[in-house]
Amino acid sequence: MEKKKLVMIGNGMAGVRTIEELLKVAPEQFEITIFGKEPHPNYNRIQLSTVLQGDTNIKDIIMNDWQWYEDNNIQLFTNEPIAKIDAQQKQVVSDQGRVVNYDELIIATGSRSFILPIPGSDKQGVVGFRDIADCEEMIQTAKHNKKAVVIGGGLLGLEAARGLLNLGMTVDVVHLMPHLMERQLDAAAAKLLKNELEQQGMNFLMEKKTTEILGEDRVTGLRFSDNTEVEADLIVMALGIVPNIQLGKDSGLYVNRAIVVNDYMETNVNNVYAVGECAEHREITYGLVAPLYEQGKVLAEHLAGKQPKPYEGTIVGTQLKVSGVDLFSAGEIYEDETTKSIIVQNEFDGVYKKILIRNNSLAGIVLYGDTKDGNRLFNMLTSQEDVSGMTSVNILQGTCGAVDNSGDVASMPDSELVCGCNGVTKGTIVSAIKEQNLTSVEQVSGCTNAGRSCGRCKPMVADILAYTLGDQFDQTKQKTAICGCTTLSREDVIDEIKAKGLQTVKEVMNVLEWKNEEGCSKCRPAVNYYLGMIYADEYRDARDSRLVNEKMHANIQKDGTYSVVPRMYGGVTTAEDLKKIAEVAEKYNVPLVKLTGGQRIGLFGVKKQDLPAMWEDLGMPSGYAYGKTLRTVKTCVGATFCRFGTQDSMGLGIDLEKKFERLDTPHKVKMGVSACPRNCAEAGIKDLGFVGIDGGWEIYVAGNGGVDLRAADLLCTVKTKEKVMDISSAFIQYYRETANYLERTAPWIERMGFDHIKEVLEDENARKLLNERLDKTLKRYNEPWQEAIESKEIQDKYYVTR
Ligand SMILES: Cc1cc2nc3c(=O)[nH]c(=O)nc-3n(C[C@H](O)[C@H](O)[C@H](O)COP(=O)(O)OP(=O)(O)OC[C@H]3O[C@@H](n4cnc5c(N)ncnc54)[C@H](O)[C@@H]3O)c2cc1C
Ligand code: SF4
Repeated sequence: MEKKKLVMIGNGMAGVRTIEELLKVAPEQFEITIFGKEPHPNYNRIQLSTVLQGDTNIKDIIMNDWQWYEDNNIQLFTNEPIAKIDAQQKQVVSDQGRVVNYDELIIATGSRSFILPIPGSDKQGVVGFRDIADCEEMIQTAKHNKKAVVIGGGLLGLEAARGLLNLGMTVDVVHLMPHLMERQLDAAAAKLLKNELEQQGMNFLMEKKTTEILGEDRVTGLRFSDNTEVEADLIVMALGIVPNIQLGKDSGLYVNRAIVVNDYMETNVNNVYAVGECAEHREITYGLVAPLYEQGKVLAEHLAGKQPKPYEGTIVGTQLKVSGVDLFSAGEIYEDETTKSIIVQNEFDGVYKKILIRNNSLAGIVLYGDTKDGNRLFNMLTSQEDVSGMTSVNILQGTCGAVDNSGDVASMPDSELVCGCNGVTKGTIVSAIKEQNLTSVEQVSGCTNAGRSCGRCKPMVADILAYTLGDQFDQTKQKTAICGCTTLSREDVIDEIKAKGLQTVKEVMNVLEWKNEEGCSKCRPAVNYYLGMIYADEYRDARDSRLVNEKMHANIQKDGTYSVVPRMYGGVTTAEDLKKIAEVAEKYNVPLVKLTGGQRIGLFGVKKQDLPAMWEDLGMPSGYAYGKTLRTVKTCVGATFCRFGTQDSMGLGIDLEKKFERLDTPHKVKMGVSACPRNCAEAGIKDLGFVGIDGGWEIYVAGNGGVDLRAADLLCTVKTKEKVMDISSAFIQYYRETANYLERTAPWIERMGFDHIKEVLEDENARKLLNERLDKTLKRYNEPWQEAIESKEIQDKYYVTR
């Protein structure tokens, strides 16, 4: 049978995906010709941001190389735009005069950057951010110039700005609106984003309207409507996109904002279709690939005569590809009288989550700082799942009990979407792994497309691999960078620190060529922790690299005040200490005195400038209620007073707390000591729990009593307090040396395997060495508030209100 002639105008992401789908369902049906305006084969336009940010290069973002076209008998004309469509004759004419006949024609011409129509916008040094040429111009300009201005504080603008910072330029971002990414984020999330980006070095000029680009031939600056000016050697216009529709318009196609298509991507002209950003479906044009790929699949099946389900539109989710920024947004973002919202905000950790609910279904999602629930919530949004029976905790945290990543994966239904860009579900990935014996994320991407566009789902794909392969999963084949500032994993960073003898956070970032030389709020505290863990006795802590509460040695509260929680070893206090606390509470007008969950007394609502004097008056050590360290050892009253008690729980608790106080750990550590199995100190849900029995102690590990509830595992039973100290110390040191920063003991033990940890701790020699390294580290610590009281410099730097 003679093949039909299929011509496609545009060699971009949506168009070529349509051809890939077509080759799957009808490999022999068409003789295919593609015309591209750019000189390259099909590439991943999404990854231009990562090219600009230095994470990858042009070569690596090619999705279908020249060979692919040859292998599939596709005739490709690059650098040769189509200038005319003659729908009567069923012909296209290129700008070089080449005429090609078609039976079916796909228009996939995408969009171009919107360039502000203001005086001077045609000067040299003004670019959009759309293609390889724009990217190359920015990279070249950055080699000889210093100052860039990005107009537009949306997704593209911020990704461009991050790239230009990485290229060594100083960057102003000009934005017309009061907050960034106003179409994806509400004001609270946008504020966190702005803070993070300012810390990374971006300067924002908010609510500014650009009226003129200054300079002779080449740009030198820009002027705003309030008559202020800023200098610029390069201006990137990232204000949005305009669909490329002129060709369609000139050919008699029905065009509104873009080329209007029906549910099968058909235009009003027979045998002419439009797909991608140049198409308008049910009055919507899309600017992200997920819907465009869905359109491409429907069109391919329609062309192949497969009678696909109609394309009915897509709800899209947005993420930002900037290192150190974790955000996800989908659906509506602002409340109205018909919605109710669940909002969780944690300014210490820079986390904000908002869910909008209408008629018992999700209507919108805004996540900042922690997006691990993004896919699950997005599924709930798109499937309009009824959430009326769920509590707010269930909605935000998934089902109770699932703590570790493999647990999350296990509880995910097969239908759950993993890769939003490519519409790949967990079920598809699991089947591909099993049926095709896949062992790495790259192989899964190759077979299923998952992770092949923006790449954000790759960690989840790795979790699914680990879950599906079980014991056969080879961790060494999978590496996750510690944050977007580097491609190095935790293990790489630790190996490099050791091999090169790197001593400071700055040195690590310089020598290991961090893309963002200041690092971000994820990697700065992590690197500081790893250095402190490696150089047990001699490390000088980089206080400014720590998370805010640790830097301040106080827990910042919702209203900007702080809390003061003195140490009470084992939860045991004295009348004298109680008097001191009462006097301090009175003297400083402390609004709230409260017993905490860890058996301590907390003074809440304290002003920053009162902190040093209060601690001086108290004369007690800090309870570290804010730190990634040992928080509290909760004890029961034990054998001293309780008739059931078999052991001295308070004595052990006090000894443990005295030994481990102030020690840096990957995350907070809580302990509990009960003198009998009635377990009044709740030792079974602590990182380390001890339960007295006749003639000894049971040691439990890796419990968690928070949102991610986990019962601790019984590690061993020992006879003496000395043995308790020996094993607990080795356990803590092993956790310190092998956990990722910010990984609690519960997910750590799931990842490492309980049996493995038990085996290490049973080895006497290993335990001895772990104990030695821990003891060295413990010698390093001083009482932080004593230091602050004695140092005017510390007081001025951290506790003076200006
Ligand atoms: C920097 C950047 C980051 C992005 N990040 C994301 C992201 O994180 N997630 C996401 O989902 N999307 C992202 N996008 C958007 C995504 O890349 C687009 O939605 C997608 O590329 C659109 O595909 P398309 O085929 O419609 O258009 P394109 O990929 O633009 O392809 C159209 C092609 O047609 C060519 N063309 C135009 N006119 C003619 C003509 N007359 N003759 C021949 N060829 C012609 C164009 O030159 C172009 O090569 C990003 C885009 C950019 C620029
Ligand atoms: S755990 Fe046992 S010993 Fe401790 S207080 Fe409770 S009953 Fe008494």
